[in-house]
Amino acid sequence: MPNTCCVTNCRGNYDAENKVAVFSFPKVEELKWIQAIPRRDLVVTKNTKVCEKHFTDDDIERVSTFYKESTGETLIAKLKKPRLKEGATPKIFPHCPSYLSSTKVARDGPEVRKLNLEEQHLHKAIADSLLTKEQYDNKFSFQNFVEMQNCFTINEVPPFWSIIHKDKHIIFLSLVITDCVPCITYAITINDVLQLSISYKGQNLSKHKDTKLPIKVSNFNQVLDILKNYETNVINYDNPLDDNLYFVTSSLKKSMNLFEDKFKFLIEFFIEQLHLLKLNPVRYRYSSNMLIFSSLLFHISPQAYKFIRHSGNLILPDPSTIRKVSSMLRSSPVYEQQDKYFLSYAKQIFSKISDGDHNVFLLLDEIHMKPFMDYKGGNIVGNSYDNANLATSAHVFMLNSISSSFKDVVHIVPVSHIVAEGLFTLLKKIILALEEIGFKVMGIVTDNNSINRKAVSNFNNPPQFQVQYQHPADEKRPLFYLIDSVHLIKCVRNNWINQKN
Ligand SMILES: [Zn+2]
Repeated sequence: MPNTCCVTNCRGNYDAENKVAVFSFPKVEELKWIQAIPRRDLVVTKNTKVCEKHFTDDDIERVSTFYKESTGETLIAKLKKPRLKEGATPKIFPHCPSYLSSTKVARDGPEVRKLNLEEQHLHKAIADSLLTKEQYDNKFSFQNFVEMQNCFTINEVPPFWSIIHKDKHIIFLSLVITDCVPCITYAITINDVLQLSISYKGQNLSKHKDTKLPIKVSNFNQVLDILKNYETNVINYDNPLDDNLYFVTSSLKKSMNLFEDKFKFLIEFFIEQLHLLKLNPVRYRYSSNMLIFSSLLFHISPQAYKFIRHSGNLILPDPSTIRKVSSMLRSSPVYEQQDKYFLSYAKQIFSKISDGDHNVFLLLDEIHMKPFMDYKGGNIVGNSYDNANLATSAHVFMLNSISSSFKDVVHIVPVSHIVAEGLFTLLKKIILALEEIGFKVMGIVTDNNSINRKAVSNFNNPPQFQVQYQHPADEKRPLFYLIDSVHLIKCVRNNWINQKN
């Protein structure tokens, strides 16, 4: 074989892993080399080579230096092929049996022999440690799936782990057996491209310590460290409540897409309640959906809201949190009275509802209030809009689509004592503004209150009570006036009850 090393037991250039530089025997000192090399049958030809492993570093030149006069620098260049210094002889023969080198040793003086011996021991130690490292690597490291499988067959994994060898995976399971029911807590899986992932009770973990999962592994000990780490986790774990809550919430999250859409809010609500269960009340944080739900519930009935909270059936935000959230919204009657915000909500909903819902009736109703004054969200509230008194009632204007179930409040006015003319002005203003937004106001519905009737009469000039008026926005269109039928029935009922005879 060309360029292979002639030294006994040396593998220099025999295969790809042992690529080394080789040197030919020197003409002048050929004999010195022959004597130095511990091989009895050595016949030197022009093809006989000795590899670099048998020379000390001092004997080999790997770079060339020269002085550049023009710049005064010393330049160093790496040599393509290393070369020997003058007078260099091979000295290092780590794998040679000692009886082969004995002849040579015998020829040297005692000092030289001692030095040679020391050198030989040193190189043997280096060679041994290299060998040990190679053996170690062979035993514990792996480059592919098959090597890894072998590695986990030779080396022992702590008995805590149950190992399963699959075609494309090795799986380490931490099994907890309670009353004959096995439960997998941690599962550590290495796939066929040596990526290690970790799951806990069926949920993939995203990180191991600070490293993002999956991790590429190439060594048994690396895997062993991870296994030991999670073994300690399991043994030291003593919070079954947290654990069970985690299990329930993660199962719910996982099955989220199995539920119909209409139940998604419900499931999210459960998950959030379960999450809150784990926390100290001072650390409660609510999702926006939860805050909306709670605010609505609170405004529908503060009493019912307080009852649900105190009964402990649900974990809901404190009313002060709801007030804080509500005051952030620009929905106060104070804003509604300002021209800039007048019917701003109606403008928003107009674009969100279908065209068919734009044909509407304007409903007016009155809600009686306890007069009180408050400072809320930077505004004083509780005043009536038309005079300096506290409001005793609120006039609520609603839209009701004639072709669908769409119904929404568009304007609220706090009042103390409103006169027919004032109410008429307000009605007309609202109708014209709604028409400008794009709604078609077909008519007005109120209860059979004399103020309401009188106010509506003003749509005729001179004022006259009718069921059909000329539309203020378009003289060709009618504006109908209806008395709320439910209210009529209520009046009939009340009159019957109040009959004395
Ligand atoms: Zn060699």
